[in-house]
Amino acid sequence: QSQEVSQAHIDYHVALQALQEHGTRMVCTGKMHTDRVCRFDYLCYSSEAEEFVFFHSNSSVMLPNLGSRRFQPALLDLSSVEDHNTQYFNFLELPAAALKFMPKPVFVPDVTLILNRFNPDNLMHVFHDDLIPAFYTMKQYSDLDDEARLVFMEGWGEGPHFDLYRLLSSKQPLLKEQLRNFGKLMCFTKSYVGLSKMTTWYQYGFVQPQGPKANMLVSGNEIRQFARALMEKMNVTRVEEVYKDGGNAEHEKDDYVVVFSRSETRLILNEAELIMALAQEFQMRVLTVSLEEQSFPSIVQVISGASVLVSMHGAQLITSLFLPRGAAVVELFPFAVNPEQYTPYKTLATLPGMDLHYISWRNTLEENTITHPDRAWEQGGIAHLDKEEQERILASKDVPRHLCCRNPEWLFRIYQDTLVDIPSFLETLKEGMKTKPNVKKSKPASTVHPGRVREPQCQTSVQTTNEARLTVSWQIPWNLKYLKVREVKYEVWIQEQGENTYMPYILPQQNYTFSENIKPFTTYLVWVRCIFNKNLLGPFADVLMCRT
Ligand code: UDP
Repeated sequence: QSQEVSQAHIDYHVALQALQEHGTRMVCTGKMHTDRVCRFDYLCYSSEAEEFVFFHSNSSVMLPNLGSRRFQPALLDLSSVEDHNTQYFNFLELPAAALKFMPKPVFVPDVTLILNRFNPDNLMHVFHDDLIPAFYTMKQYSDLDDEARLVFMEGWGEGPHFDLYRLLSSKQPLLKEQLRNFGKLMCFTKSYVGLSKMTTWYQYGFVQPQGPKANMLVSGNEIRQFARALMEKMNVTRVEEVYKDGGNAEHEKDDYVVVFSRSETRLILNEAELIMALAQEFQMRVLTVSLEEQSFPSIVQVISGASVLVSMHGAQLITSLFLPRGAAVVELFPFAVNPEQYTPYKTLATLPGMDLHYISWRNTLEENTITHPDRAWEQGGIAHLDKEEQERILASKDVPRHLCCRNPEWLFRIYQDTLVDIPSFLETLKEGMKTKPNVKKSKPASTVHPGRVREPQCQTSVQTTNEARLTVSWQIPWNLKYLKVREVKYEVWIQEQGENTYMPYILPQQNYTFSENIKPFTTYLVWVRCIFNKNLLGPFADVLMCRT
């Protein structure tokens, strides 16, 4: 393997000389360790020290140059999970002169992306924390192309989903444990360290109970572009992106429902009965998939053509990102687990532009749940707890809000098996399907926002000692003349100078004369913006100062 990397499209001697003369160069983006990705020339790794090494020379660059703030707490997060103290990246420093006394370095000629996978055993984490962030980090830096080398530094083995990581580039990803095969010192000619967090939508509850990220920056469009790229790599023939209409009577013949089944934990105990009920309710075929029984690509193939995906809460639901637009996701929750508090899949399904319909069902009948108090604690066992605590947990009908990741009451409840009460399930389904938008009819919502209104103006006149008029007019935004927009409206805000409040008005036309609440000899501040189709807001034009 050391041959593979040292075969060198680069001349070894030239590389060594460059390292000795120029040392390491680092330039990063991001103001904080939590939003930083760094690019390096000649970043080295000592497998002996298990540390990255920055070699200082006269032409070294280190930007940001944080001094010892580099350790408060770290230069950057190596995984996409924000500020997790097991995922920090830093390097040791040495003068380039020290190279003379060190083992000869092996150079990696590939452009390399260095990162930590967060939890490669869990399919949801694989996609949310690793694959999508790596995919878009590679899009951000054009030299991270199909020939890029990925290096996973979290220290885990390949894991059950390594084939998915292999799809990110044509080169085999390297694991931390393999780095020592390349000798005591390896130097990455060009590398990027860290992952963009731009695409993540969920926080796992390390500092506050889990939930959607506060500042989501991703839309369904980016998730779907990623899904499409991955399907191409998996050679999954893309099902025509026709808009399925699940609950509709006039659906096409080949519409079907998929039940994603788990066969080890968190079981649906009456799956056959559930399947019958679904077939009857939707008048469609019902297919079953499971990670235990099928290859991942074959599961994606099935899901990419489904009208409805039904599954117990769990990592396998991340595959809803492969559903066609207009499909429905139905997530089942065990007894005492509140669907509103565990929403990674709801958040995904409801991202703007994801165009999925989301429904959750919760088992409310205690007699229909099967608990596993005697299992290991990771699978929800509670036998290791005080009798009192065990009794409290058994008596509780709702897991209280909690932090990640070892809350025994949460684990106990989430690993229950469930006998799905069919009448209650169908009730939830019918109720939920009522509000399902018909994606075919509503068309994918346009995401083109209005530009600023142009040439905003005001004219004023005083009528009497206590009556005045304020006329505001403007021209349409520049981009409107090239667009077909169903509804164009304008919003005008009027604020008396020095006041804290303003009056908002929605208008269909391009000018209006205000006379109510307009006083003579007063200065008003006026803002105008355009709105497409009720909710696509444009920016405000520069504020107008209007003196009556
Ligand atoms: N898993 C599975 N079948 C099972 C139980 C788990 O395929 O019966 C998979 C699951 O999809 C996930 C991993 O094993 O990728 C870990 O499952 P766990 O229950 O720990 O996590 P969760 O699904 O709650 O995220």
